[in-house]
Amino acid sequence: MTACVFCKIVTGQIPATRVYEDAQVLAFMDIGEVNPGHVLVATKSHVEDVYALQDAQAAAVAQVAARVARAIRAAFAPDGLSVYQANGKAAGQTVLHYHVHLVPRHQGDAMAFTWPVRNPPRDQLEAHAARIRAALGQLQGE
Ligand code: AMP
Ligand code: ZN
Repeated sequence: MTACVFCKIVTGQIPATRVYEDAQVLAFMDIGEVNPGHVLVATKSHVEDVYALQDAQAAAVAQVAARVARAIRAAFAPDGLSVYQANGKAAGQTVLHYHVHLVPRHQGDAMAFTWPVRNPPRDQLEAHAARIRAALGQLQGE
């Protein structure tokens, strides 16, 4: 359990730029080679993959993912948004803790499964997260 990087993020042992959190779900900025606004939505408890996901966890992650997706749309106005999960090592899953990727896409980005080329410096992650959090708050308030 302690070896899992996302479990360490949940417990605060590893820093992450948080976008949203409730009892079951944590959403945080992806630090990989990404475009602005790439968010991961993860279960708080350690669930390895989709096969192990309980119904309530699936519902909770999907609901948060939809809300954060709308907030990303409001904050960054991307041309599209990839919502996906890699599942199992052969499918490209590198962190074996259940999570969904929300990746804003722009017309100029490389498509398919190469990452978008834009790579925000880490210190920009907080600024991106703040825009998403603000949009989330506005959308919730509507
Ligand atoms: P996957 O390869 O589909 O399992 O996704 C794992 C994702 O976690 C990748 O996009 C990584 O960039 C991201 N990631 C790994 N470590 C961290 C971390 N400490 N903080 C934020 N994102 C991370
Ligand atoms: Zn874990």
